[in-house]
Amino acid sequence: MDLQVVEQVAELGAWIADGDVVVLSGAGLSTDSGIPDYRGPSGSARRSTPMTYQAFTRDPIARRRYWARSHLGWRTIGEAHPNDGHRAVAALQDRGAINGIITQNVDGLHQAAGAGDVVELHGNLARIICLDCGDLTAREALAARLDEANPAFDAAAVAINADGDAELDDTDLDQFTVVDCLSCGGMLKPDVVYFGETVPPERVARSFALVGNARTLLVLGSSLTVMSGRRFVLRAVKDGIRVAIVNRGVTRGEPYAGLHIDAPLGIVLPHLAKVSSGPVRI
Ligand SMILES: [Zn+2]
Repeated sequence: MDLQVVEQVAELGAWIADGDVVVLSGAGLSTDSGIPDYRGPSGSARRSTPMTYQAFTRDPIARRRYWARSHLGWRTIGEAHPNDGHRAVAALQDRGAINGIITQNVDGLHQAAGAGDVVELHGNLARIICLDCGDLTAREALAARLDEANPAFDAAAVAINADGDAELDDTDLDQFTVVDCLSCGGMLKPDVVYFGETVPPERVARSFALVGNARTLLVLGSSLTVMSGRRFVLRAVKDGIRVAIVNRGVTRGEPYAGLHIDAPLGIVLPHLAKVSSGPVRI
């Protein structure tokens, strides 16, 4: 770390030692876990155009293609492990410095690292919801059903892994068999917020309540491009709550941040956990 970053981390450490920190995390926190930054609320684990709720529910061909791509993408996300950044956040929370975590990520890695009180703004890819009966089931079980329904699909998947830039042909996608809810036969969807869909109001309210009671809003790995995350920064500024951002590159929150550390999260966060290891509020 260069000297400027060391000084910034020391200052952030002092903010954190004051306690009452709320974390807002984005895709940049999970890239070290091998999850690409696809940006924005989307259930799609591909670089292709994000699925919209309208297309998913109304267009059977789009839905079939989505499930085929998403089934492949799930192998990456489902096998991902938390990284040093997630572990540092969990450690800070364990010491009482962090009151809550709001995440734009749908990978569940905060919880996998041992963190609690996580508001998953955009849902979690590990859950499947039935749009008809509301039944929630595990993604793993659905993945097994999809594997069973598509025994020939594996070959196409191997071809993709050999060449990361390859996309599946539409003909491969169109042969993919989608499965329905085991309870009611209804339409299944990953329990994540798509473009064109709004974040459930209770999650937004819970997040605003967390921010409203915070002394510091700590943004980790989010460029704050989408309003679903940026609004919490705007609220914090309006309420006089200080904002710190740790992110690689430019963010739309910069004008509002009292502290912006442009450095890798995998280095900054473990260091931060170390420098702020002093007494934190009991
Ligand atoms: Zn159902």
